[in-house]
Amino acid sequence: MTKKKLISVVLTVLVLVSAVISAVVYSQRHERFDFSEKSSIAMGTIVTQKVYGDYAAKDIVNTKAVIDGLDDMISWRDSESDIAKLNSGKTMNVAYLAEIIKQCKEISALSGGAFDITVGGISQLWNIGEETQRIPTDEEIADEMKFVGYGKIEVKGSEITLPEGMKIDLGAVGKGMACDMLKAYFDASDLKGAIISVGGSILAWGDYNKAGDKWQIAIAHPREEGEYLGVLSIDEGFVSTSGDYERYFEEDGKRYHHIIDATKGYPAETDLVSVTIVCDSGLLSDALSTACFILGQEKSMPLLEKYNASAIYVDKDMNISVVGDIDFEY
Ligand code: ADP
Ligand code: MG
Repeated sequence: MTKKKLISVVLTVLVLVSAVISAVVYSQRHERFDFSEKSSIAMGTIVTQKVYGDYAAKDIVNTKAVIDGLDDMISWRDSESDIAKLNSGKTMNVAYLAEIIKQCKEISALSGGAFDITVGGISQLWNIGEETQRIPTDEEIADEMKFVGYGKIEVKGSEITLPEGMKIDLGAVGKGMACDMLKAYFDASDLKGAIISVGGSILAWGDYNKAGDKWQIAIAHPREEGEYLGVLSIDEGFVSTSGDYERYFEEDGKRYHHIIDATKGYPAETDLVSVTIVCDSGLLSDALSTACFILGQEKSMPLLEKYNASAIYVDKDMNISVVGDIDFEY
């Protein structure tokens, strides 16, 4: 072998060896942490989770207990809950609830009353998604609308009182609140990362590999069941989707869904079929997805700005528009 040829062989081998080394390093860095996967039912919805880290596989994580604990406090159906007691006319001194109500009232004001957690009586009248769902009469709606009005919730410090007949329903924010609690729970854990969906409200927390690659979140297609609209990539954060396809029934060719325009008492007439919100609070992502869905794209843009949130809007013609600094492939 000539000297020149020898050098060239040595160089080729070196290049190959370094390529193999970097491939190994790359795959190690991008390898997922050990993980475990689980689904359960909580808050009347499906919860799916993947948790990553040394302890993950040992199944020590009890997220269901966290969600059930919150549900016991805020479900209007449970007569022992804080919300049920509040709805029955009792003055309640509960700091966390006073704080939640304040935030919801702010969003109500900014949405011109379209978003309003005092819509409980109206929601129960329609009962959409339940066996007794039906179209109420205009008179029934007018009667129940007398009890809707976020401005009449009295909050003094942590003391809350409702006017007689008013019914709070935290359905629009409960799953987001659960995600906030889960974040605190994961923060205090030894896990490396977690992704959890509480009926469509999602928390992406920490990392799933050493390289810190982004979480990939599939967003449901609002018209094709089981299909995805696209994939959202985020570092960490909260993602919530509201749409007219989750709970609805059709009568005479018209779709009646579970998101009510609280200024009217009827399912919101909107140009959207779904909206996904990404931001750094579970409560806000959930509240904003509901509020933005009702308001439609144009009127809801100021809400995004105010809360530093991003959105994926899908209109009735299936046009997708992405607003804000997010990475959505579709
Ligand atoms: P989902 O529960 O399907 O995730 P949302 O987060 O959008 O959807 O919340 C819808 C729920 O919010 C309804 O089932 C009802 O309990 C409640 N709700 C309906 N209309 C309103 C409204 N205008 N303001 C506040 N809450 C509402
Ligand atoms: Mg919501």
